[in-house]
Amino acid sequence: MAEDMHGAVLKFKSIKGTRDILPDESHRWQYVEQAIRSVMHRFNYKEIRTPVFEETSLFARGIGELTDIVGKEMYTFIDRSETSLTLKPEMTASVMRAYIQNNLGEQQPLVKVYYLSPMFRQERPQAGRLRQFHQYGAEATGGTSARIDAEIIALAMEVYEALGIKNIELRINSVGCPECRPHYKEILKEYLGKVYDKLSPESQRRLEQNPLRILDSKDEKDRELTRDAPLMLDHLCKECAAHFNELQDSLRLLHRTFTVDGRIVRGLDYYTKTAFEIISSDLGSQDALAGGGRYDKLVEELGGKPTPSVGFAAGIERLLMVMEHQQIAIDNDIHPDVFIAAPDDEGRRWALAAAMTLRHAGIPCEIDLLDRSLKAQMREADRQHARFVLVAGASELQQNAAQLKDMRTGEQRTLTLSNLPVELKELQRDSGKTQ
Ligand code: AMP
Repeated sequence: MAEDMHGAVLKFKSIKGTRDILPDESHRWQYVEQAIRSVMHRFNYKEIRTPVFEETSLFARGIGELTDIVGKEMYTFIDRSETSLTLKPEMTASVMRAYIQNNLGEQQPLVKVYYLSPMFRQERPQAGRLRQFHQYGAEATGGTSARIDAEIIALAMEVYEALGIKNIELRINSVGCPECRPHYKEILKEYLGKVYDKLSPESQRRLEQNPLRILDSKDEKDRELTRDAPLMLDHLCKECAAHFNELQDSLRLLHRTFTVDGRIVRGLDYYTKTAFEIISSDLGSQDALAGGGRYDKLVEELGGKPTPSVGFAAGIERLLMVMEHQQIAIDNDIHPDVFIAAPDDEGRRWALAAAMTLRHAGIPCEIDLLDRSLKAQMREADRQHARFVLVAGASELQQNAAQLKDMRTGEQRTLTLSNLPVELKELQRDSGKTQ
């Protein structure tokens, strides 16, 4: 049976691999989400929200039957009308489904959307790997130019920079297209076939259907065996090679440093040409902050007209981990500017209505709702980092006044009740200036 942090037996506990975002940390999430939205809007991306679940076949088709996600990680269930549904494990398939269903391409030739959403994958939980986690990302649908890829990569990088994150690395690759990849796959299969017996069981399984994935195996021995393996980059067709050159050229125009890494293959079948990853050395074994690429075949695969597209997805938990590791301050926590402390019943009655007046005037305000002593109320105001405490009891109220204490300087003064919101607003402004 589950226990809480003090060893008491719990009747209910959150599901393994999921976690609560508690009141003391939600402001960090809001801060990051705000920064993401702001960067997205500067790049003219608009938000899209899709349902949390979709028909299972959308993901099977859109992500690929042979991927880990579809093969072993999806949260799939049969609903009461016998339909197989799946909690979304990633967003691209859903976004493309929405794009096709709503004819978004007819309204605009290049559709630029972003999202922020929980995702669900039944992976083995560990640091930086959850079963419900959160991603943000963007997709640009309708163009083939490598300049779009470069812009979206720059956008992904810009989010980290806007948040003050350092030491991140951009790695890019090209995974070719249906013209050149099949030929390369054969060359790779032949190469790896010679060392088949030494490959990990996982890689042995992959050799027939998905040999590219062997290149990004985490297994030490696999890595050793593939050190000199042929790479897609050396077997690109003319069009893919030109596209990859243009991508690099565009990234240079944007002053983006990058490394070309022939081992970035991505787990998903629908990728064509550009593939990229953003890595942080502050993350340990789960070091990928974001990944993405071009998927010119997906819309077609899902029943739409052939429409090229490029996008990326990034994890919010990992982003927050890096911010914590780099000790980046987040100071948007919510606290009351004014705490009204009441020494007696009359004061309490007054405080209830006065707090509302202040809140309507735009001043974040708190009162004591637990009938505590004045001393306990002062302690509470301090604990909540209130900037000012306003004390009013029967005797002050009779004189149409309240005592204001500045919690930072300790200074005290008397305010006139009728003028309270105006005086407090002025103080709020002044204290903002001196912060
Ligand atoms: P993917 O959709 O697998 O390419 O993942 C994109 C990004 O989402 C990764 O780089 C991570 O930052 C994040 N991510 C993926 N899976 C998980 C997970 N199980 N737990 C936490 N973050 C994840």
